[in-house]
Amino acid sequence: MNTECEYIQSRMHEYFDDELDYEMSLRIKKHLEHCSECREIYEKISKLSNLIKQSFNSSSESISL
Ligand SMILES: [Zn+2]
Repeated sequence: MNTECEYIQSRMHEYFDDELDYEMSLRIKKHLEHCSECREIYEKISKLSNLIKQSFNSSSESISL
């Protein structure tokens, strides 16, 4: 693993939450395009975050009903 990968992965959650500035998110985006290792991690977080959102939505729906 190289240092750029370490850096990207340490920022991945912030990238997901849109907490990074434009330059930083662009850097991650570009890195993900050519680094399969980081892309894998990104996809894992993506799936996980979708799951969390789904369960949150379904539970809030059941409350409103
Ligand atoms: Zn990488």
